[in-house]
Amino acid sequence: MDPEALERRCPRLGGDVSFGYCKVCGKDKAPCFKVIDCWWERFDVVPHMKAYLSPDAFETLRKQRKPPDKVTNLLDLIQQAKERASKS
Ligand code: SF4
Repeated sequence: MDPEALERRCPRLGGDVSFGYCKVCGKDKAPCFKVIDCWWERFDVVPHMKAYLSPDAFETLRKQRKPPDKVTNLLDLIQQAKERASKS
């Protein structure tokens, strides 16, 4: 199974997004900090992300699982919306 095309409703954006998007939608194409929390019920996301990321990047992701402060979160959502708008 290729999980890239799996979709779910994003609790941050309010619309459907693909797992492929969640893997690269963070700063500098990093995964969203919620990628494990959002996808663990759909497939084995932890081994997938461990294989996809370097050990250091995976550790960073693991540590980032707590949400950012509200201002950082808002700026991140604005950036994601801009990127989505520029692609359409
Ligand atoms: S991982 Fe991030 S971008 Fe993807 S659905 Fe969850 S909150 Fe949204």
